[in-house]
Amino acid sequence: MFNQAPKGTRDILPSEVYKWQYLESIFSTLCAKFGYKEIRIPVFEHTELFQRGVGDSTDIVQKEMYTFNDKAGRSITLRPEGTAGVVRSYIENGMASMAQPIKLYYNISAYRYENVQKGRYREFHQFGVEAFGSAGPEIDVEIISLLSMFFERLGLANTGLNINSIGCPRCRDAYHEKLKVFLRPHLDELCENCQNRFERNPLRILDCKEESCQKIVAGAPLLPENLCGECGAHLEGVMSGLDNLGIVYRVDPQIVRGLDYYTKTVFEFVSENPGSQGTICGGGRYDGLVEVCGGAPTPGIGFALGVERLLMELDSQGILIEEPPVMDIYIATLGHKASDFAQRLVYELRKCNVGAETDLLDRSLKAQMKYADKKGFLYTIVLGDDEIESGKGVLRDMRSGEKKDVSLDSIIDRLKKSLLVAPEPCRTCPSDPTQQK
Ligand code: ATP
Ligand code: MG
Repeated sequence: MFNQAPKGTRDILPSEVYKWQYLESIFSTLCAKFGYKEIRIPVFEHTELFQRGVGDSTDIVQKEMYTFNDKAGRSITLRPEGTAGVVRSYIENGMASMAQPIKLYYNISAYRYENVQKGRYREFHQFGVEAFGSAGPEIDVEIISLLSMFFERLGLANTGLNINSIGCPRCRDAYHEKLKVFLRPHLDELCENCQNRFERNPLRILDCKEESCQKIVAGAPLLPENLCGECGAHLEGVMSGLDNLGIVYRVDPQIVRGLDYYTKTVFEFVSENPGSQGTICGGGRYDGLVEVCGGAPTPGIGFALGVERLLMELDSQGILIEEPPVMDIYIATLGHKASDFAQRLVYELRKCNVGAETDLLDRSLKAQMKYADKKGFLYTIVLGDDEIESGKGVLRDMRSGEKKDVSLDSIIDRLKKSLLVAPEPCRTCPSDPTQQK
């Protein structure tokens, strides 16, 4: 099995990587416009960070972490999510003393030992955002609006935004008691997982995916109706902020999110298309987390979006991401002289940021042309002894089939003028014609 990828992991092949690059570029551009800066965090951290930062009672910590001892006997865990690592970095790098709020985004792989199924892998990818230092509802609204703008830019429809508040430790403790009083008579009917949750974290029972548990909690007291004054006002603030921007949402009192450290606002973007893997993105406020991880009390909020699920959603809504044309010209050759000339020409073209290739396998002309066709070059030119001698060749536009006689000396300038995709500005050409476009 050594030559098969481990269960739950997948290669992102050259034939699909452009879709990832497209999403990454839209996401990072948008984050930058909102004033968020990218952070890159390690793939592994000390296990204790996740035990504290994700929370001991969560499925992630209980069942899903890839944990091992390194050679010095330290317990190490592959990141199952990004927030804990970003919080650790915030504390370790003294971000509390920098200009506030601190607004960060990331693009990471994450690792969870899960039951592999559609949209659920053991290595998967997340785009995420975290903001520290702002306690008011305005930043909750900003983060949600960033997400909703991202979906809009991708052309996604039917992606429902659900919000809720899970209160602060004060109102949540009181709510826990109420919930337990309601659930106690049904304790035997709850699934085994929820029976364990009953004492440790009864709120999570609201989130259980078992149908029998869902039926029981349907009549449970609702969180938004049991919030303290401060948490209630915060939820009102988020709702009116979203209304102000015209962002449509639904308050769903059952959303609690899987992680222990959330406070007040929680939200999810859920696919409303039948047949897709539910939640595309989840987030929330975590005002207690920085302190739990060893920093000074600091409000925080963020989200994480599953990139594989986003791609599935785009696919199921029939939204195509077009592969950009990458290669400009293929220089097919006949004979050694032409081949040497083509090597030089390709080198010069590449210096000017023109995408160029020539044959590397000593193939027949027919095989070279077949290759050029398959790889989607915009132009081809065939060079043999005659062309080298006369200094002229026939440039063929591969899409229109149009042919033009060109002098080989002028080919670089000519190409740069006629390319559909403007190449990057060229530093080596003093008067670069592409810059006048
Ligand atoms: P779920 O309820 O589907 O297990 P979750 O609550 O565990 O999701 P989060 O920890 O909030 O998920 O992660 C944020 C997002 O990351 C999810 O909304 C989802 O899009 C994606 N995600 C989570 N786990 C996986 C996985 N195993 N494979 C692929 N994507 C995942
Ligand atoms: Mg999960």
